[in-house]
Amino acid sequence: PAQMNGGAAMEATRRRNKLSTNGQASEESEQSVQWGRAWEVDWFSLISVIGLLCFAPFIVFYFVMACDQYQCSISQPLIELFRGETTLLSIWAQAPSFTWTSAKIYSIWVAFQVFLYMCVPDVTHKFIPGYVGGVQEGARTPAGLINKYEINGLQCWLITHALWFANAQYFHWFSPTIIVDNWIPLLWCTNILGYAVSTFAFIKAYLFPTNAEDCKFTGNVFYNYMMGIEFNPRIGKWFDFKLFFNGRPGIVAWTLINLSYMAKQQQLYGHVTNSMILVNVLQAIYVLDFFWNEAWYLKTIDICHDHFGWYLGWGDCVWLPYLYTLQGLYLVYHPVQLSTPHALAVLSLGLVGYYIFRSTNHQKDLFRRTEGSCKIWGRKPTYIECSYRSSDGGLHRSKLLTTGFWGVARHLNYTGDLMGSLAYCAACGFGHLLPYFYIVYMTILLVHRCVRDEHRCSSKYGKDWKRYTDAVPYRLIPGVF
Ligand code: NDP
Repeated sequence: PAQMNGGAAMEATRRRNKLSTNGQASEESEQSVQWGRAWEVDWFSLISVIGLLCFAPFIVFYFVMACDQYQCSISQPLIELFRGETTLLSIWAQAPSFTWTSAKIYSIWVAFQVFLYMCVPDVTHKFIPGYVGGVQEGARTPAGLINKYEINGLQCWLITHALWFANAQYFHWFSPTIIVDNWIPLLWCTNILGYAVSTFAFIKAYLFPTNAEDCKFTGNVFYNYMMGIEFNPRIGKWFDFKLFFNGRPGIVAWTLINLSYMAKQQQLYGHVTNSMILVNVLQAIYVLDFFWNEAWYLKTIDICHDHFGWYLGWGDCVWLPYLYTLQGLYLVYHPVQLSTPHALAVLSLGLVGYYIFRSTNHQKDLFRRTEGSCKIWGRKPTYIECSYRSSDGGLHRSKLLTTGFWGVARHLNYTGDLMGSLAYCAACGFGHLLPYFYIVYMTILLVHRCVRDEHRCSSKYGKDWKRYTDAVPYRLIPGVF
């Protein structure tokens, strides 16, 4: 049944757990119920989850306050705390607090993005050649469902940015520095939404899940809250939590936040530095790429495999807009003007990284879409045939590409992403550590993601996955890792 209450959802889970531990169940069916996210929580995962729940909000606060009170030095507050020259309470007390103005700005922002997402069906795919938008299908869920999505992210991004520029140029309803001027008060608002949406999704999973067969209850409340229970929570037919919160309001805001930083530099110093332009341009390419390929995004791990919990809900509302934009914030406090060779090196690293990232993702997408009837690097692709079962018992076939970038390493898209991330950081010069937080974080995120994904693929494809890893032995860097 598509709809079940929480009790029925747990019963479905129990049935599957029983199946997976029943000695008589076939190896294939055992495999089939294991390939989503974890069913049981080990101690390491539990400690990590509780640690993240407790500390992640403070990490965001720390970085933002380090800029606000310590000119973006991340060591200075620690030194002062260590020497007893300040206390955590006094840092906290100096932080600008919640304001109703910021609440108004944020409410309008989120409401506008909901409106664009829900009420303006995509028309851009009718006019822009090559762009895939409108109603698209996602990947098969572990329970065997295929969801439909309204892909209109590019349109939302274009409308939002057209309005932003129209305001800056003609209407002057608000200052282009509005975001950075309310940056810390807005942090409280984003946290309120992040916690509200994660808590709502958690309760919803028990009371009225969208598809109970795709719910996962591990028995550990912290893990369930953080990693999510429902796979694709929805309100009504179209308001998909994952698609909305992953892409908008956070990623649409990313480029606006950077533009706001640029406007602030202009206001404070009377000019914009080449480093700020580089950060704006490189990150805008990444954001635009995301929306241009939103239909492809339906086939990525976030949508295909992750459940919706605090990790995605709070992460998209708070972590992403605050920590992915640290470079621009840093450049407001430290307007670095790069030498031409430095700027060119950063630009080249960013563009080469982007090329590898995009081409790798494109090769897999093309290969999967055409079911192997395509050319990659001018040749017919080679691949490994795999089979797997979904929890409804259905047997499915799949293919793992072994040519092109996918023959060089198993996750060269992550390598390209990391090169781009390093370029954003290097655009800020070498004066402080703070802008380099992003590359450290992305390395941890993508290496962990790679290991997590491979574990899942190994459970899903069994011996076929082993054949693939024998054929392509390295993960990110050939010969190294
Ligand atoms: P991938 O797009 O690499 O998807 C991994 C999935 O692809 C696997 O689970 C498997 O799924 C399938 N697959 C694996 N190997 C092969 C192969 N050889 N041939 C065909 N299919 C294969 O990973 P992500 O979804 O994590 O990432 C998508 C992009 O998003 C990446 O470029 C990443 O860098 C970026 N990203 C950026 C983040 C950010 O915060 N900036 C965060 C996360 C990702 P199946 O079960 O279908 O076989």
